[in-house]
Amino acid sequence: MTARITNFQRFLQIIRDGNYPETCIEWWGGKNSHGYGLVTFSIRSGLEGRMYVHRLALELSLGRELRDDLCALHRCDNRICFNPDHLYEGTHSQNCQDSHDRERRPSRKGSRHPLAKLTEADVTEMIRMGSQGMLQREIGAVFGVNQQTVSKILRGDRWTHIDKSSRQSPSPAQPEAR
Ligand SMILES: [Zn+2]
Repeated sequence: MTARITNFQRFLQIIRDGNYPETCIEWWGGKNSHGYGLVTFSIRSGLEGRMYVHRLALELSLGRELRDDLCALHRCDNRICFNPDHLYEGTHSQNCQDSHDRERRPSRKGSRHPLAKLTEADVTEMIRMGSQGMLQREIGAVFGVNQQTVSKILRGDRWTHIDKSSRQSPSPAQPEAR
C-alpha cells in the first residue's frame, strides 16, 4: 500500500522515523506544472516560499543540503514520491527538473551568502517553527541554511532584536498616550 501524505508535519515525522517503506510515499499536497510535489511555507504575510518535497526529503535524510548545481532525482519515476530510498543526487545532465523551480526566496534570487538570504520575517518564522518542535536541521533545510546557523538564531546569538520581540510574552503595557 502506498502512503499518501498531504500534511507537512506528517512528512517531517516520516523522515525523522527513518523506517521508509519499500513502496513510494506520495505527496498529495501541491504540485508544480511538471507534476512534482511542492511544499509551501510562509515567509512573511502575503509571501510564500516553495520547495520540492522530494528535494527536502533527500536533504533531511542525508543531513545536509544538496549543492545548488545538483538535483534530487527519482529512481522510481514517480514525481510525487518523497521516499528517500527512492531518491539520489544527480547533476543537471541527468534530466534534472528541480533547480529552476526551487523557490525558497522568491524576492531574493541569486543571493549566495546564507545569512544574506534571511529576512527578519524569516527569522521570526524560524523561531516559530522551533517553538513548534521542528528540528534545527529541518528548519535549516527549509530556509537553505545549515543547522549551526539555525542554532545560533534560536539561541539569540544573531538577530537579537528579532529574537527578543518574538519571545516576549505578553508584551508589556504601553504607557498611555496623553
Ligand atoms: Zn518512489
